[in-house]
Amino acid sequence: MSNEFISRASSPLQEHAYQRGPRITAVETLIPDDIMPGLMLLRLHTDAGTVGGEPVIGHGETYYIPHAVASMIHDWMARRLLGSDAMAIESHWRFLYERCTAFGVRGCELRAISAIDLALWDIAGQICQQPIWRLLGGPVRDRIPVYNSCGGPGYGRRPAGDLNSQGWPGHGSLGKPGLLEDNWNSVHQPVELAEELLAEGYKAMKFWSLDRIYAESGGHRVGWEDLEEALRPMHQIREKLDMKIEIMLDGHGFFSLPAALRIAEAMREIKPLWMEDVIRPDNVDTIADFRDRAGVPIAVSEMLISREDYRLVLERGGADYIMTDPTWVGGISESRRVAEFAQAYNIPTLMHDCTGPLTLFSGLQISASVPNITYQESVRAHIRTFYPMLIDENVNITDGHAALPERPGLGTRLLPELFDEEHPNYRITKLN
Ligand SMILES: [Mg+2]
Repeated sequence: MSNEFISRASSPLQEHAYQRGPRITAVETLIPDDIMPGLMLLRLHTDAGTVGGEPVIGHGETYYIPHAVASMIHDWMARRLLGSDAMAIESHWRFLYERCTAFGVRGCELRAISAIDLALWDIAGQICQQPIWRLLGGPVRDRIPVYNSCGGPGYGRRPAGDLNSQGWPGHGSLGKPGLLEDNWNSVHQPVELAEELLAEGYKAMKFWSLDRIYAESGGHRVGWEDLEEALRPMHQIREKLDMKIEIMLDGHGFFSLPAALRIAEAMREIKPLWMEDVIRPDNVDTIADFRDRAGVPIAVSEMLISREDYRLVLERGGADYIMTDPTWVGGISESRRVAEFAQAYNIPTLMHDCTGPLTLFSGLQISASVPNITYQESVRAHIRTFYPMLIDENVNITDGHAALPERPGLGTRLLPELFDEEHPNYRITKLN
């Protein structure tokens, strides 16, 4: 692609409107399917050289349909990015969003925009030599409350010996006995697990107790006996530890209204901090109906992939909490806008994780700078087993709180050796 692509447009939403900052010179993607097959990693290179002793490279990621997202970026969005101002974050976001509205925008398109947005904010932070939360007006807190989602080290990984399978969303295996096998332990040794988390300083844990019911019975029918068995670990924790630890339940969007209402009825005794995606998010009116009748706080979450979806849920009173995934909803830029919008309804916002290390780091940047963020999700099994295979600096969690990232930009970098030109899932598009 030649430099003549750079025009002098008068509108910020026309091709390459600004040329005031460093230019984007190359777009690289890598799908590390031997580590986390749903993950797509992105690097944006610039002509800014080295700042603060490190080359200015923007890092981003998204999760699910990684090959489709990589194609969207290389085959379509790169022609906007290459040669253009690497710090014109809002201009690029709006340009790409508006072009994608021509064919629907949700899904692959917003995932691509999300990864790009993370990388652009990373560049801005590196150029300014500040963590992103500083550029967003933070800090609003000096540490970020996190909870532990009880996934195990195998969740999100390719099953050993099965190179053709990566499972389906929410259909991970229970795991096996062992260290950091939090999903297995949440079923078979819940009190010991809760005590271990409390000893580490966590104040809240999230269960995935309903996955087996859905796998065996579908989402329309939940038997009382199955439900009793699924919720028994939570009752055991309440009996032994009373209210010492907050409990949340994620239904992974598996259930229809009557099944979800039965689950909610059974959960009232547990007094959860919230129930999340117990009902499938097909219809905002049904979500609002469910919340009216549930009798426990309801989180409506990362499965909504647009500002408009969140607006509808908030306007119709469908949620006590909303949750966003910054690598799905439109990056740091859009997550912040959605959280601010929820603030107008006096509804707190939660940041999703379980989908890659830069999801977590971008969530921390937003949590450090937006007042109504209440909790950042985290999965200690991921952080301690395979995130170090992807990033050069890990998150620092103590006493149930994550430290604010202090390094300029996102706070960590994807390991450069991942971007191996010989890797079958490596792609690069660059200026000629
Ligand atoms: Mg969830």
